[in-house]
Amino acid sequence: MIVREVRAKTILSKSKVFPYVINPYVGCQHSCSYCYARFMKRFTGHREPWGQFVDVKINAPDLLRTEINRKKPGKVWVSGVCDPYQPLEARYKLTRQCLEILAQHNWPAAVQTKSLLVLRDMDILKRGRKFEVGFSIATADDTVRKIFEPLAPSIDKRINALGELHKAGIRTFIMIAPILPGAEDLPKMLAGKIDYAIIDRMNYHYADRVYRKYGLEDKMTDEFFNQMGKKLSSAFAKLGISC
Ligand code: SF4
Repeated sequence: MIVREVRAKTILSKSKVFPYVINPYVGCQHSCSYCYARFMKRFTGHREPWGQFVDVKINAPDLLRTEINRKKPGKVWVSGVCDPYQPLEARYKLTRQCLEILAQHNWPAAVQTKSLLVLRDMDILKRGRKFEVGFSIATADDTVRKIFEPLAPSIDKRINALGELHKAGIRTFIMIAPILPGAEDLPKMLAGKIDYAIIDRMNYHYADRVYRKYGLEDKMTDEFFNQMGKKLSSAFAKLGISC
């Protein structure tokens, strides 16, 4: 793993998903095989394989302190092309400091992660007036999880963390993207732990190689995603969870 400390030029960027996005890191230690964020390499010039480099934007909080005063308030996605709570965050605390600034300015934020480290920042997450936390969970089957996300925490641990955040009064959501085999069991495991769910299909471009390796090609069809999408939305609806 090559870790470089870098100084970014800007941190509060425009996004197509929410008005803004903050990525305190370039690269992600979780290294999920389907990760669409590896497209970043085209722009950053990294030659290392995805998951084997992280650039740490050490000036992210300083930039945010300045930029937040110059921009119109809007919801901030934390993060779009990295996990803001990947293991290096334990040392650098960049996500923590950025959330602290957003909370002080009363800006809304949607935090999205696979990491239990987010629980460390419960104090700030409770303080932010419009903060919500989502866990990305693509399957309920930990055997499938190990194929696609071997370096991320187990499914049970992520679901328990969602429950803990929800119990603390923080708005929570699940992002099922991509939909992987075994996702159909997720709704019942999440009852009482989330406020809403988001589902999305697979970006074939990065995932089909892994699907073929493990003989899961039959799951790559439009039919699979459409059927799973319908099953999931109806199961969430029965639980009163918007999807
Ligand atoms: S945690 Fe998210 S950003 Fe990180 S490798 Fe996995 S999918 Fe990509």
